[in-house]
Amino acid sequence: VAGYLRRIEENKHLNAFNEVFGDEALAKAKELDARIKAGSAGKLAGMVIAIKDNICYKGHKVSASSKILDGFTSIFSSTIVERMLAEDAIIIGRCNCDEFAMGGANENSYFGPVRNYADNNRVSGGSSGGSAVAVQAGLCHAAIGTDTGGSVRQPAAFCGAVGLKPTYGRISRHGIIAYASSFDQVGPITKSVADAALLLDVMAGPDDYDSTTIQTPYTAQGEVKPASGTKKIAYLKEALESDGTDAEVKAMLTANIEKLKAEGHTVEPVGFEYLDYLVPTYYVLATAEASSNLARYDGVHYGYRSPNATDLTSTYKRSRSEGFGKEVKRRIMLGTFVLSAGYYDAYYAKAQKVRRLIQQKTAEILSEYDFIMVPTAPEPAFEIGLEEKDPVVSYLHDIFTVQASLSGVPAISLPAGNNSKGLPLGLQLLTKQYAEKELLEFSEYFL
Ligand code: GLN
Repeated sequence: VAGYLRRIEENKHLNAFNEVFGDEALAKAKELDARIKAGSAGKLAGMVIAIKDNICYKGHKVSASSKILDGFTSIFSSTIVERMLAEDAIIIGRCNCDEFAMGGANENSYFGPVRNYADNNRVSGGSSGGSAVAVQAGLCHAAIGTDTGGSVRQPAAFCGAVGLKPTYGRISRHGIIAYASSFDQVGPITKSVADAALLLDVMAGPDDYDSTTIQTPYTAQGEVKPASGTKKIAYLKEALESDGTDAEVKAMLTANIEKLKAEGHTVEPVGFEYLDYLVPTYYVLATAEASSNLARYDGVHYGYRSPNATDLTSTYKRSRSEGFGKEVKRRIMLGTFVLSAGYYDAYYAKAQKVRRLIQQKTAEILSEYDFIMVPTAPEPAFEIGLEEKDPVVSYLHDIFTVQASLSGVPAISLPAGNNSKGLPLGLQLLTKQYAEKELLEFSEYFL
């Protein structure tokens, strides 16, 4: 813990943490030393973990990197924090993220952008950018993020880490600050597949506090044995054909296709006719859900209250105007628009139908193939400033991650080497619902 605290201090310019729980983590480590010697410590004893700042931890501040939660302290712990603590994890701090997890570069944080450790002028990815950089820069052993449309996988890819988004409902959302509830999933960001498997084992499983959790208990994986036998893998041919995919990203995908083929796996191109609808469908539905979820921040119940308010209406108006950042406001407006009486059928209801088609098509491909393989992102970490300049360009970067989110299937981003500028690239695998075990075993093959 002392070593990690030193590295956190030395790398403050990365802006990965919103708060470090230094003394508390040291005290916990001392207490654990004795228990480890006595042989009575849990599965995560010795693991120093950072959590994204949208995960509630009793008695600790939580902000979702927003001014509107200024001064707010959690009065209970999320189920995942309780489960990790019960297995003796040490939580070292809360990580910077995009405000309310809305973003793909960690530039939308009230606390400023997180810097990529490989190149400090580039973004970390987002929204779990602080968590990913904390792992990349060796500021903790592993970190926890949340993935609504790619926020665990894409920053993991930009930072050369493993990022797992489990099946929707695999991990409880109780105590996770909601963004878009039908998509939100917690996931680990780690250096190895084995650590991702271990954290999934600890966090997964039904929870009385979240009725959307999968009711069958998750069978702990134990040791991850690399997959044996040959597999059938589909790759999206559009990923290789699109002008939007960076040349070195295409080369990385091609190299993996060739390698798998040479080793006897079946690797075939498939078409996905809904590719162009993925991003619009995701943004209509995610913003609709966000506009509803964020209605609770009214300047009365939580966090920031405008000192300039004079009555109840101005308390709402001013607290929200001053408390929410630009991107969050944009999404609340977009969400309320697509849900409003005159537009509901044209946008929200239509997007629900398209989501169903995307789910069906994805399931159809996965009934024929073991895995779908795509890049995690169309390009590596870009320079700081893009998200601010053009939000739509930024949304389009989510093209390869939102398919798994819309379909609810598990997906993982694996480190796939660096490009010619030394920037990490990520390879993504998607598989059938509930098949995390097979996904993790096959992932071992790539590392
Ligand atoms: N970039 C996507 C968005 O802004 C995904 C974010 C996330 O997964 N939390 O909605």
